[in-house]
Amino acid sequence: MNSDPRDYKIDISSINADEPKAEAPNARPFLSVRFDCCRVYQRVYRNRDGTRYEGRCPKCMRAVTFVVGDGGSNERFFVVE
Ligand SMILES: [Zn+2]
Repeated sequence: MNSDPRDYKIDISSINADEPKAEAPNARPFLSVRFDCCRVYQRVYRNRDGTRYEGRCPKCMRAVTFVVGDGGSNERFFVVE
């Protein structure tokens, strides 16, 4: 009795790897700003033109603007006194 073992060829191919998700189209860059006036942190988002970051202190509504320009700072964290 000669059993005839079969070759089972099992192809374990990985299911398509997850494609990297594209960045959300509405994801806007922002700065982390600390408002010393009220000692709170707030994100300041870039405006639609991409020319500046505009934000307000969440407590006293004081407005701040950071202009985007060449040679500017690469900092992402600012303190507004
Ligand atoms: Zn404030």
